[in-house]
Amino acid sequence: MSGETGTIETHQFQAETGKLLDLMINSLYSDKEIFLRELISNASDACDKLRYAAIAAPDLLAGDPELAVTVTVDKKKRLVTVADNGIGMDRAELIDNLGSIARSGTEAFVAGLSAGEAAEAGPIGKFGVGFYSAFMVADRVTVTSAKAGAKAGAKAGEGEAWRWRSDGTAAYTVEPAAREGRGTAVELRIRRGLDEFLETERLRGIVKTWSDHIALPIRLAPAGEEAETVNVASALWTRPKKDIEATQYAEFYRHNAHAFDEPWLTLHNKAEGRIEYTNLLFVPSAAPFDLFHPERKHGVKLYVRRVFIADDCEGLMPRWLRFVRGIVDSEDLPLNISRETLQHNPVLERIRTALVKRVLTALERKADKEAESYAEFWENFGAVLKEGIYEDRDYRDRLLKLLRAKSTHGDGLVGLADYVSRMKEGQDSIYTMTGEDAGALRASPQIEGFAARDVEVLLFDDAVDDFWLGAVSEFDGKPFRSVTRGDIDLTAIKSAGEDGGEKKEETPPPAGSGALVAAFREALEDKVKDVRASSRLTDSAVCLVADEGSLDMHLERMLKQHKRLDSASRKILEINPSNPLIAALAARAEASPSDPALAEAAALLLDQARIVESEPLPDPAAFARRMTETMTRALGA
Ligand code: ADP
Ligand code: MG
Repeated sequence: MSGETGTIETHQFQAETGKLLDLMINSLYSDKEIFLRELISNASDACDKLRYAAIAAPDLLAGDPELAVTVTVDKKKRLVTVADNGIGMDRAELIDNLGSIARSGTEAFVAGLSAGEAAEAGPIGKFGVGFYSAFMVADRVTVTSAKAGAKAGAKAGEGEAWRWRSDGTAAYTVEPAAREGRGTAVELRIRRGLDEFLETERLRGIVKTWSDHIALPIRLAPAGEEAETVNVASALWTRPKKDIEATQYAEFYRHNAHAFDEPWLTLHNKAEGRIEYTNLLFVPSAAPFDLFHPERKHGVKLYVRRVFIADDCEGLMPRWLRFVRGIVDSEDLPLNISRETLQHNPVLERIRTALVKRVLTALERKADKEAESYAEFWENFGAVLKEGIYEDRDYRDRLLKLLRAKSTHGDGLVGLADYVSRMKEGQDSIYTMTGEDAGALRASPQIEGFAARDVEVLLFDDAVDDFWLGAVSEFDGKPFRSVTRGDIDLTAIKSAGEDGGEKKEETPPPAGSGALVAAFREALEDKVKDVRASSRLTDSAVCLVADEGSLDMHLERMLKQHKRLDSASRKILEINPSNPLIAALAARAEASPSDPALAEAAALLLDQARIVESEPLPDPAAFARRMTETMTRALGA
């Protein structure tokens, strides 16, 4: 700006950041210590980035090749400083990275909180809010950073170093600064009352608890004293499995995946032989915000001989396993492999095949041995695995066995093998229904006949279901059949109690439904493909189904919503001859086939069937008029 402030610029925090800062300042006492984990995590990331950049430009490391994090404490001045000699940030990066919330997950989380909630959000420690957690313990944060490769000896303000400073209220400042060597120092002025964070023993304990998995040395010292390394300082995945505790795996996972939850599954293996690599992979226990976001980041990271090479390496995991996190460290790839060629590298392809099998085997074991826990996994990531069923023929059979579905039999999830094992005598197909919401599907008229015969129907409510069901014809020799498409004859299947017990009588269609069908066909000629008597209805008067040769109902609706389809195909209206209304109409049709009341009833019933399907009515005003007239007549008004 101007005058006395010299070149100090003042910037306002972006809106969501303000909310996050409120959250920080009002956080619960027990969360506060995680600030150190977050700052060390960032320092470690910055060193990884530098090490990668130095493969192409070794000069970047010149003069200072030992990457490390140093934590110093100045009790008198109430300062704790976390410094690294990593990649550093220039002016623009300081503003971009520390002036707004860079992490999509955190942003979504914070955006979802109202101001009041922000204060009461409870343990935010588990959300790992990154850099801003510094404000939980500090009333002023000063970041001094010099980008690796910036002109050494340049005049202040010409790219050497920059200082960012804020007290955590609405604004922060940026100004030129001096810093010896590259990297970043984050200096915290510890709030009054939080003196414990000025004790080296306390800080050492925090590092041991949260950051022991970090591969760099973390040094700790009171200002002016010799620093001492307090962590193991080797990459976690290189350590023997027996020496690693579950909590260390969990912390590694959270740091590595920028996640907040516990790993649901941890796979740590060393492969030796023709291709050598180590994998440390995780399946999260919570679905991330951006699982279905096309630009989703943070998949499996690739390392080559302990050097970080690439984030979110697509060459290592198929898209349908994009929820898998962690690292793969290869012994065989060249260090200078370019990120662009990773997609089609034959070594990576071999590793990928082995990893996919390893993940699937682990999932199969869980599905087999820990059904309840597996069901939770399925709720989180089943929809993603289903993409593999239609995208990846190589794994289709294994994925179908891993599939779980909601069902008309109970609230739990069932596997296809279980379904097949309890199919009814005379049942030859796996019956399915797709829609937006399993609850609504359970109440659909189309499954009444199945319920009456106690025939199980699998209910699918993920958007992807119509697609894989369209691609897969059968499981275990049994074809999949949608209950909302084509003509389904259930009479071959024994109905409940048919072999003994209270026999539920099959009422033969009352005479006259033929005349009613004819009258409806005529009335609805240009609106439906056909009208027929139904065997799938037992209570409801009517329902709509798709013709055998057309798209299934839900799929068509989805495609139309997404403008992938212009016009809907005409449906078949099925009528239930044993429903009292239909029976009465049938009698009327028999007696006077050209009674205009029949055409009115046909129009009303068709609209009613559309409403049940959540389909928009083509002429809502006409529906309302007919409804009013019918009710008026019924009341004798
Ligand atoms: P995250 O680490 O999940 O990206 P943070 O809030 O912890 O989110 O950090 C925000 C960004 O600030 C980082 O992505 C990084 O670009 C930058 N940053 C933070 N600390 C450092 C550091 N010590 N060195 C270099 N860049 C850093
Ligand atoms: Mg971070």
